[in-house]
Amino acid sequence: MDGGVKQHKMTNMAMRCKRKFYPPKLPTTSIVIVFHNEAWTTLLRTVWSVINRSPRTLLKEIILVDDASERDYLGKKLENYVATLPVKTFVLRTEKRSGLIRARLLGAKHVAGEVITFLDAHCECTEGWLEPLLARIVQNRRTVVCPIIDVISDETFEYVTASDQTWGGFNWKLNFRWYRVPQREMERRNNDRTAPLRTPTMAGGLFSIDKKYFYEIGSYDEGMDIWGGENLEMSFRIWQCGGILEIIPCSHVGHVFRDKSPYTFPGGVAKIVLHNAARVAEVWLDEWRDFYYAMSTGARKASAGDVSERKDLRTRLKCKSFRWYLENIYPESLMPLDYYYLGEIRNSETQTCLDTMGRKYGEKIGVSYCHGLGGNQVFAYTKRQQIMSDDLCLDASNANGPVNMVRCHNMGGNQEWVYDSDDKTIKHVNTGNCLQRSTRDDPTTPLLKPCDYSKGQKWLMQTKFKWQAAH
Ligand code: UDP
Ligand code: MN
Repeated sequence: MDGGVKQHKMTNMAMRCKRKFYPPKLPTTSIVIVFHNEAWTTLLRTVWSVINRSPRTLLKEIILVDDASERDYLGKKLENYVATLPVKTFVLRTEKRSGLIRARLLGAKHVAGEVITFLDAHCECTEGWLEPLLARIVQNRRTVVCPIIDVISDETFEYVTASDQTWGGFNWKLNFRWYRVPQREMERRNNDRTAPLRTPTMAGGLFSIDKKYFYEIGSYDEGMDIWGGENLEMSFRIWQCGGILEIIPCSHVGHVFRDKSPYTFPGGVAKIVLHNAARVAEVWLDEWRDFYYAMSTGARKASAGDVSERKDLRTRLKCKSFRWYLENIYPESLMPLDYYYLGEIRNSETQTCLDTMGRKYGEKIGVSYCHGLGGNQVFAYTKRQQIMSDDLCLDASNANGPVNMVRCHNMGGNQEWVYDSDDKTIKHVNTGNCLQRSTRDDPTTPLLKPCDYSKGQKWLMQTKFKWQAAH
């Protein structure tokens, strides 16, 4: 037909996915798509890809939830348009801007299918995306499943397949991040890259969940506004309360990742995002919430509001501790399972503090005036003998000279330090040398030097520091 069309080369993975067998009787699903001021083209691309690439017998309906959009075309025009679609599709409206969490809850209320599938409003489902998700829920209804989220360019809108070797994690600031799947999880899957991948957290926009289970496990935290944090809240809740969270590598859905939000955050981005994150920290993190609060004054000042209902839910569902989660689900986490200290590291002689100076991977660690505000001056001294700040670890490959900050690898080596709480030295295990104050030549750079137990080699780490939230 069209000789100019590029022949799509099937990857080995795609071929193995295609050969998989799924149970003949899968549950039906309703697709819930929430949006605020979404573009017509991206919204329709999402809807048509669902219609074209989902088996009709499995697709109950498509529910569009308009979160108080201000664009005319998303009004009557959209309703008239969806009335012509070959799959039952309807539009619900929040009337007042509610944020994605409460908008999704409104959509979920109207779901007639057995499974709820949430999608963002700027996605493209690919051939065969749905069956592997539903099949997994049939096997265990407490499994919440996500597709691999491919990348739709926000400039050209071309479709780019994402890596199947990443999973979801988070940093001390409670930002969701993609990280490389560790060998441990590869081995659990017998190195089969098409097998479901147990992920510590999910990105949040795209997933399927058994409808009854969605409510059993506490749906969403209605105290969260606009955007952010709900994905981590749900991830911790699923794992800690007896569920399973997986990425299904045979299911691919593209998503337009954007640099910045195209819509407003009433009251300010920081205020809303910090409020949501504080709710996650207060309800699910136990003592590890200290890591979150240590990172910024903003985080400590933001109000979580009333979280008593969510804490009650945690008790009622007999959910496990965050320690259990770190031990069993996410031992590779940047929040260390066991640590001796979290706080500033102060030199006895100069009274200055170790400071990342906002620098990046591979750059030198600094020292500066101790400001006591956390952030760049907060370090954890861990049981694995790392000195870490979020994803950075103090790392020395030279016996003398500056010390670098390198991505923590959890393998000892150049990142292993012994703090002697009696003589107050910080000794680098591999070189046997000690961390020493900066000199006048370069007053912001501490050095590694042969240990002489002078005052300039003494550093203060007290007991575990408690960072208090304002509320
Ligand atoms: N959204 C919404 N109300 C809001 C904010 C977001 O309905 O107040 C919708 C948004 O249109 C999108 C989904 O929620 O369909 C997820 O938001 P977004 O895509 O901005 O998040 P990201 O993918 O960038 O994390
Ligand atoms: Mn999105």
